[in-house]
Amino acid sequence: MDKGLEQLKARMSEIMDLGHAASVLGWDQMTYMPPGGAEARGRQQALLGKLAHEKSVDPALGKLLDSLKPLEKKLDYDSDEASLIRVSRRGYETATKVPTEWAARYYKHQADSYEAWIKARPKSDFKAVLPYLEKTNKFAHEYADFFPGYDHPLDPLIDNFDFGLRAKKVKGIFKELRSDLVPLVKKISKAEQVDDSILSSDFPEEAQLAFGRAVATDLGYDFQRGRVDRTPHPFTTTFSIGDVRITTRFNKKVLSEALFSTIHESGHAMYEQGSDAKLEATPLAGGAGMSIHESQSRLWENVVGRSLPFWKFYYPKLVKTFPHFKKVKLLDFYKAINKVQPSLIRTEADEVTYNLHIMVRFDIEAGLLEDKVTARELPQVWNSRYESDLGVTPPNHSAGVMQDVHWYTGLVGYFECYALGNLLSSQIYGAAVKKRPAIAAEIGKGKFNTLHSWLTDNVYRHGNKFTTMELLKRNGLGDMDVEPFMKYLRAKYGGIYGL
Ligand code: ZN
Repeated sequence: MDKGLEQLKARMSEIMDLGHAASVLGWDQMTYMPPGGAEARGRQQALLGKLAHEKSVDPALGKLLDSLKPLEKKLDYDSDEASLIRVSRRGYETATKVPTEWAARYYKHQADSYEAWIKARPKSDFKAVLPYLEKTNKFAHEYADFFPGYDHPLDPLIDNFDFGLRAKKVKGIFKELRSDLVPLVKKISKAEQVDDSILSSDFPEEAQLAFGRAVATDLGYDFQRGRVDRTPHPFTTTFSIGDVRITTRFNKKVLSEALFSTIHESGHAMYEQGSDAKLEATPLAGGAGMSIHESQSRLWENVVGRSLPFWKFYYPKLVKTFPHFKKVKLLDFYKAINKVQPSLIRTEADEVTYNLHIMVRFDIEAGLLEDKVTARELPQVWNSRYESDLGVTPPNHSAGVMQDVHWYTGLVGYFECYALGNLLSSQIYGAAVKKRPAIAAEIGKGKFNTLHSWLTDNVYRHGNKFTTMELLKRNGLGDMDVEPFMKYLRAKYGGIYGL
């Protein structure tokens, strides 16, 4: 191997390992750490973060990347080597544009703001978080200004989650999506409503865990390279391609919560486990943009896991595990897990109304960055959009503008990934079935290897080599598209609600 390339690999491996070591500490903090560990843990994580940052902006790394330009030109764009140089340079250029002193203040703000939000949310105390929200807004503006030449000030922020995606494009997609979704939600609300009370009973946690594990294993989540633990907020975390963990939250009273969050996180985890082994300890391991990542969790959770064929296979097993369902017909169960109801809380929303929640948030972020909305006005803007778009009024701020952690940890530019992930889940599943028509019938037999291996070959193994848009083009999908998702919704919910 070229000597410069070898040096680059070694440098990137150190940066990645520091990040992954911090992830181990973070995972432990969320799962098993006793409260007494908190202070030292914060110090240790700050140190790892500082070391990784210093390595990421080392001028010697910049020189090395410059010296690799001639080699990069000679290499095939798709090759691991060219991709390593390209993606490493992107990371270096982004990191060096942000002053170290600013980054330190921002990290401190993230921790302080989160702390304030955790305290204020149960009391619905917007006044207490407003100064932090104003600071988040100020940080977002300052961050954008480190990248002059943008079309929209949200663009540099979006780049952190989905490189190359533009606010203008998202606005266009959302305009179309909203004009399609609103009438569908109206039609459903006029139809006979679904009763989902059958999902509530007493479901022992151990049985829920075992059932979720068995399903995740069937889907292709490799427990030799992963594990599942309990946390209040489910997440997926990666330490290496050989160790990708998920967490689940249990609700003894409602069966669907842990089950679908386990499938969702397994989708993220299978994507991370599926990176080509050669990409280990490079910034190419993991996933492309967050829209693609979310598409993979949604594909397994919704397109597969909430489908009728899937439950034709799993329902008898579910009934055996939870005798409560003995008297419930499969079709009633299927309808219950797909009940549509405009609601206040994003994370509890169904497939049809979910994207409406996202558009409220995206439009607010765009408004903040365009200086059309101030942080102080957020509750009012939020509530009026919930009334007009979802027909519900938050009774307090914790069920309204204070429900999501993102803005209160300084994160701006992320939300659109959730909705785009929904759109892409339909597009990517469509592409898979077109190439491997057997997939649909196999799901009804509890077999997922054709789908899993198609995803591995065409999405997973590439890791972070390509951007979201590049990955779509490689799979003949052109661009992000609203229609496949709407077609999927109309067919599925047309059936459930007899539209
Ligand atoms: Zn997710």
